Amino acid sequence: MNGDLFSLIFAMIFVPCLFLGWHSVSNWLRIRRVQKAFRSLPEGFRQQILNQIHEAGSQANICSVLVASEPNPSASPCVNSKYGGLPYAEEGDEWPFLKPGHPEQASFLIQVKLDETFPRPWAGRMLVVFNRHDREQTVRSYATPTIERSVKLTGAPPEREWTLQQIRVPRQQFDDPRTEENHFNGLLDYDPVVLLQTIPALNADLARFTKRPADLLSAILVPNHCSYGFEMSDIVQLGGRPEWLLEEPDGCLCNQCGRSMRFLFQFGDLNGGQLLGSSGVCYVFGCDEHPEQPLAFAQFVHPQVST
Ligand SMILES: [Zn+2]
Repeated sequence: MNGDLFSLIFAMIFVPCLFLGWHSVSNWLRIRRVQKAFRSLPEGFRQQILNQIHEAGSQANICSVLVASEPNPSASPCVNSKYGGLPYAEEGDEWPFLKPGHPEQASFLIQVKLDETFPRPWAGRMLVVFNRHDREQTVRSYATPTIERSVKLTGAPPEREWTLQQIRVPRQQFDDPRTEENHFNGLLDYDPVVLLQTIPALNADLARFTKRPADLLSAILVPNHCSYGFEMSDIVQLGGRPEWLLEEPDGCLCNQCGRSMRFLFQFGDLNGGQLLGSSGVCYVFGCDEHPEQPLAFAQFVHPQVST
């Protein structure tokens, strides 16, 4: 009897441990495989896949994503979208502080140049976001950013810089467009599994390098994320509907006129750091009548400590 009891307790402990161990090892192997496949891609292949998505998205655009690449030393990043490095600024600007009178400077997070998929007065405008280590962030808005107008700010040591390339995302196919239902059960339009179904030609191209095309496509879209999928905090989405990390706020109203504001973009910590807390996402909204005063606020899974 004691022997049976001992065997039962042993099985109750050993079997779950064995399962968890197997799960961790297979997860680790899957990550290693996708990283190896990504590193083995021939030069230009990643851009070819991104171009295919962008081309499909240009015909039936739902939103865009900004994908990160190493900065090109010969290009001038100051008037383009980027994450980290030094921010775009114009004559008279100073590096913002965490709060008025606070001695510590805010960290520069991202600058996004809005394209012509946005209506006036947003198309061509540059938005620059600084992290105040609080829920609401500092965001500056420039109507006509140019290299001639740009000035260099000296301030907080920059985070690692990534150039951001805009890729238009095609609308996913629904069985019934009115109810927006399909077998993906609410997956995003730029989820790799969805993209492979929306653009079937991607499957054959990716299958030359992997047995799991969705894993490799994920690495192509988010190359600095060391896994085979990605979370809301790993991407930059422009336009479309905001994808809320937590509950949808009651309403994003303009401080000046009280009208509902337009969703512009959202982003997470592309450097994999903790600037937006652990896996936080920052949302940027703007009023069409008051484009100089957009609003940027973050949602955190684990709230930051205010300074
Ligand atoms: Zn307004």
